[in-house]
Amino acid sequence: MAKRDYYEILGVPRDATEDAIKKAYRKLAVKYHPDKNPGDKEAEEKFKEATEAYEILKDPKKRAQYDQFGHAGISGQPGAGGFDFGGFDLSDALRAFMRDFGGFGGTFDDIFGGGGASTRGRSGSHRPQRYRGEDIQIRLPLTLEEIAQGVEKKIKLKRYLKCENCGGTGAEGDSGLKTCPQCKGSGQIRRVSRSLFGQMINVTTCNLCGGEGVIIGKPCSVCGGEGRVKGSTTINVKIPPGVSSGNYITVRGSGHYGRRGGPPGDVIVFIEEKRHPIFKRRGDDLVVEIAVNYPTAALGGEVEVPILNGKAKLKIPPGTQSGKVFRMRNKGLPHLNGYGSGDELVKVIVWVPQKLSNEEKEILKKLKSIQGNVPSKTDKSFFDRFRETIGV
Ligand SMILES: [Zn+2]
Ligand SMILES: [Zn+2]
Repeated sequence: MAKRDYYEILGVPRDATEDAIKKAYRKLAVKYHPDKNPGDKEAEEKFKEATEAYEILKDPKKRAQYDQFGHAGISGQPGAGGFDFGGFDLSDALRAFMRDFGGFGGTFDDIFGGGGASTRGRSGSHRPQRYRGEDIQIRLPLTLEEIAQGVEKKIKLKRYLKCENCGGTGAEGDSGLKTCPQCKGSGQIRRVSRSLFGQMINVTTCNLCGGEGVIIGKPCSVCGGEGRVKGSTTINVKIPPGVSSGNYITVRGSGHYGRRGGPPGDVIVFIEEKRHPIFKRRGDDLVVEIAVNYPTAALGGEVEVPILNGKAKLKIPPGTQSGKVFRMRNKGLPHLNGYGSGDELVKVIVWVPQKLSNEEKEILKKLKSIQGNVPSKTDKSFFDRFRETIGV
């Protein structure tokens, strides 16, 4: 089941501070808390989902792993401590919420009620965010062979770069930046009006500076005041062995350069697995089908099977039925976090020729005359046994 991105769940940017993450989670948890939505399964799921995201993102170590490898970076990791999200249930989520935000006893109103007051009048406190460069998202298709070994890729990107003419300030020459005379640098215009209901404060974005609080003396002739220009760059991305579609790797600071000297965004590289001509992937196991002839299946023998980057020998025991699956240990893909590898599952299909030579016909006719009947439909034990052997 595909999991949603934790940042998306909490509605915070990828560089959100711990405080912002905590606030965003608290808001969601309060909204979807089961006590507030009795019997509402959807709210319960949302509460669990938000709590899980919070548990990861509030922990700098787990967050770093998640940033680098996505969900695969934190699931099923031995010795990670804390929560095993495979079995993350409602009681875990409730406990996590209680631990960080306390019980509901006397503080219920404090949590659900007048919370609005404390968040009012704070717009404008995120100003630096306006200048941060955008993230660049790219897809990186990889072959199974590359995934098995890990790979380093050079990727060329179109990217906003710092404008060298103005050094990123957006101002021509030494005309510089001035504090906006209209809003005095706050970026906002407040108007107080009186009405029947009392005093009203109306806050709007300053139209002279566009909310930035500063204006340029004279815009840079190259970038027009943006402080950045279109260009391109090449980045190196190191992909560890064992990744899969849906994993992503964050390259910090390689995204678009920010406006007017703002910090650059990140490059987020989404892994995509290319279809392999013969192998199918199942977790870290590889599945392959091979054909053997009837004599080999009946008498047993040794066959050659493809493995990633080579070939291996597989012993077929006498009496092997078509569809039987053999497991070759450690011939699959390496586990992303930790040691060891998956297996290769080899499904044997007994091949029936469609054209026969005269000699083959003679032998088969003779075989037919001496071989007993095939198991009948009512021979349950044969079909049950057969089904047990085919897991793929
Ligand atoms: Zn410029
Ligand atoms: Zn202004």
